Amino acid sequence: MPPKTLRLILGDQLNLQHSWFQTTQPEVVYFLAEQRSETDYVAHHIQKVVGFFAAMRKFAAALQNLGHQVIYYAIDNPLNQHDFCANIQSLVEKHGFEVVAYQEPDEYRLDKKLSELSQIKGLTIQRVSTEHFITERTELADFFKGKKSYLMETFYRHQRKKTGLLMEGQQPMGGQWNFDADNRKKLPAQAYVPEPLVFHHNVTEIVNQIKTAGIQTIGSIVPENFNWPTQRQEALDLLEYFCAALLPWFGSYQDAMDTRSWSLFHARISFALNIKMIHPLEVCERVVQAGLENPDVALHQIEGFVRQIIGWREYMRGVYWAQMPEYAQLNFFNHTRPLPDWFWTGATKMNCMRHAIKQSLDQAYAHHIQRLMVTGNFALMAGIHPDALDEWYLGIYIDAIEWVEITNTRGMSQFADGGIVGTKPYNSTANYINNMSNYCGSCFYQHKIRVGEKACPFNSLYWDFYERNREVLGKNPRIGMAYRNLDKMPESERTAIIKQAEKYLNNLNDL
Ligand code: FAD
Ligand code: SF4
Repeated sequence: MPPKTLRLILGDQLNLQHSWFQTTQPEVVYFLAEQRSETDYVAHHIQKVVGFFAAMRKFAAALQNLGHQVIYYAIDNPLNQHDFCANIQSLVEKHGFEVVAYQEPDEYRLDKKLSELSQIKGLTIQRVSTEHFITERTELADFFKGKKSYLMETFYRHQRKKTGLLMEGQQPMGGQWNFDADNRKKLPAQAYVPEPLVFHHNVTEIVNQIKTAGIQTIGSIVPENFNWPTQRQEALDLLEYFCAALLPWFGSYQDAMDTRSWSLFHARISFALNIKMIHPLEVCERVVQAGLENPDVALHQIEGFVRQIIGWREYMRGVYWAQMPEYAQLNFFNHTRPLPDWFWTGATKMNCMRHAIKQSLDQAYAHHIQRLMVTGNFALMAGIHPDALDEWYLGIYIDAIEWVEITNTRGMSQFADGGIVGTKPYNSTANYINNMSNYCGSCFYQHKIRVGEKACPFNSLYWDFYERNREVLGKNPRIGMAYRNLDKMPESERTAIIKQAEKYLNNLNDL
């Protein structure tokens, strides 16, 4: 007789294509649980908690339809002890499971937690791959062994060769690996922007259960009209919509920001990807196929998308496993300030920040440049503690799971890792924001002004950031230009800018 086996499925492991589910076995039971351990480690956006629960419930139902046996603990199930080890131990005692199997978690926290299962006496523990990523956990660390830094572009080229995506033999299609320079256009005022594809789920029951349980959440939700995909078919629909309606402009306007649309030409597929409803290769292969078949899609639109997924996404995961747990403590600039209160409301006079934050609270989503060059940029220059930032980013976005959130936040956006992810901080004055968006025109502040009541905070904070970090950044050759410009400024101008920055820094809540 094969041993009685309990297979645990975490909320971000909803991969119906996994080899586990391809055959049914009478001795195997699957287990999913909505636990307080997962809802409470940070205050999550209400849409994020709903999205996970709704997708988990549909996944359990899909498994049952395929003939699998499933034990499902909803958040209000009295048997639920809200801890993976405690829940599993009691199921083992009750049903006599001899084997407990689980898929490799993607979070360090859960990896440690599930390793405690080995303490349950008489139980065989099996750990298998999630079969989701293109690279193994340690592949990036092995690839860069002996090197001082991890260069994304080098890793990305390796990934292109490995997957064969956009390759002609050993050479990149179009004779270039990277078309990033073509991907920095501002959206013209008359440009047509398609509406995002949304799903109109009624999630009232789940919202009520979350409220009754007393789970603390942030952001808002319209319970009769939940936008995000909750099952694989919807993830596939999002992908098809992206290929047909958004891909022709994706790369060109990848860095654009505009008040007319909250998602512009972005795929909004990160939630579906991160909970593994859809596979990264499947996404890229479809986008490459659809793009190459369509004469209206230029190569740089396709390459820009593929790079994000086989490049950045896998790269961030590799950095996470190479650097955790120390990574979560890094604070290169020793930043200590708390988040201004308006990060939780959007009530600021800065139009760019108001838009990015309000949209995040309403949609549980902001696109990459809003996260990096608006909220992240401001927080970096304002000297916000990276722990506070991590908590905010980890809570507010529907796609936020630590392995991809922390590397982007602490690494790419805050340079708190001192240069593991990026070779220099991503920051800018208002000039960049004005060039890439329509935010500045209707702002209380004026983007060209550095000093005075209407001076855009991004300007003085930018120069103050470089001045106060001269010791640690002054020798970085990629920042030489900023220091040369700072040093060329008349003393009186520099002093006035630094004073303006000090005033703003002392009154962040009033901005
Ligand atoms: P698109 O612009 O359509 O891109 C397609 C896909 O590429 C995304 O779905 C995503 O899977 C991948 N991708 C793009 N950029 C990155 C990146 N830098 N790192 C990893 N994958 C990338 N992404 C998350 O999935 N979860 C997070 O918690 C998260 N936190 C972030 C925090 C900060 C401060 C920053 C700057 C970026 C963060 N990102 C995060 C990366 C990126 O912003 C999101 O993946 C993207 O906005 C998701 O929207 P989309 O699906 O419409 O992306
Ligand atoms: Fe943002 Fe400054 Fe532009 Fe206002 S003027 S939108 S604060 S960059």
